[in-house]
Amino acid sequence: MTKNISISQIKEVVQQAYAEIKNNTDGKNADYIPFLANIDKNLFGISVCLLNGETITVGDTDYAFGIESVSKVHTAILILQQYGAEKVLEMIGADATGLPFNSIFAILLENEHPSTPLVNAGAISACSMVQPIGKSDEKWSAIVDNITNLCGSAPKLLDELYKSESDTNYNNRSIAWLLKNYGRIYDDPPMALDLYTRQCSLGVTATQLAITGATIANGGLNPVTKKQAFNEELAAPVTSLIATVGFYEHSGDWMYTSGIPAKTGVGGGVMGVLPGVMGISAFAPPIDEVGNSVKAQLAIKYVMNKLGLNVFNGKQIAIVE
Ligand code: GLU
Repeated sequence: MTKNISISQIKEVVQQAYAEIKNNTDGKNADYIPFLANIDKNLFGISVCLLNGETITVGDTDYAFGIESVSKVHTAILILQQYGAEKVLEMIGADATGLPFNSIFAILLENEHPSTPLVNAGAISACSMVQPIGKSDEKWSAIVDNITNLCGSAPKLLDELYKSESDTNYNNRSIAWLLKNYGRIYDDPPMALDLYTRQCSLGVTATQLAITGATIANGGLNPVTKKQAFNEELAAPVTSLIATVGFYEHSGDWMYTSGIPAKTGVGGGVMGVLPGVMGISAFAPPIDEVGNSVKAQLAIKYVMNKLGLNVFNGKQIAIVE
């Protein structure tokens, strides 16, 4: 059964979501990274990117915020592209940990397996895998070029965030060395950690993340730049990673209530991928107790539910004028 949705309907629902959720004051900015604690907590934006390249935006969608853990998706795509899906499964894995994003306990439990590139352990491991091995500058260029291709424009390093995070990331330092102990870091551990910290400190806008979501939803073809950002067959494995662990220990609740695979970051961004239909992103700094933006979650759920969209409802969606 095909369900037709018009572009004007989507615009209207996005506006409504913004108006309904704008004044919500729940959650609080991440404070374990000092820089994030001081970001204006009232910033809020929603951006949708359709597969024809059209973007629908409302609110602070041009504000560059810390990408944080959403960058784990981009770098997962890079290593999938460099190594292939099977090798990534073998070297990192694809299982949800069911534990917080920065869990050391999870590494001890599955000690020869960081589980998934979408939690800190797997993401640091992924940065260690980025080719060319041993060459920090070239690895960094590969990471940034890949993010640029996915976003359709370049991200900007937020120097203060990078400094703030580098000065305080003791937990992640432990993770890097523990992974080394278990043979799950494939390059120099401090270098892998630094690349991870730097990629988390890149500033992106909600629209750049909506475009990334749309690129994944479109089989790797960026609908805005019309450039193939990654091999088409990698869209399914990367979307499955997002679906299983995008919201950390709340991933099941999220899929159950929203119907869209999405990835969050403690900077307040959320990026959703609705295969064959669109990418959607919302951004608002206050996060809940597990690290997911409160308003961004509400906004994406609102849009999905109001439009009757759900990756599991078996409906073919046609976006019409
Ligand atoms: N850079 C953050 C950290 O490693 C990312 C966490 C997140 O966004 O979930 O702690």
